[in-house]
Amino acid sequence: MRQDLMDILACPLCKGPLVLTIAAVEADEVLTGELRCEACNERYPIEDGIPNLLPPALREAMAADGNSGGVGGHG
Ligand SMILES: [Zn+2]
Repeated sequence: MRQDLMDILACPLCKGPLVLTIAAVEADEVLTGELRCEACNERYPIEDGIPNLLPPALREAMAADGNSGGVGGHG
């Protein structure tokens, strides 16, 4: 991800500001690192240049299920 993406990124849980920690960078692209929410302390990894901004609960659900059916809607 480009570092200027930080201008538009926010925590998916609380919309709080994210703090970028860079582990590996190339030109303007962050290849590996971590985004941390200052408000709720949630962490989001950046791998292969892609920030994983899924909320932890969703991350676990997808890992457990793996199968997405496109079913919508409690509501
Ligand atoms: Zn947050």
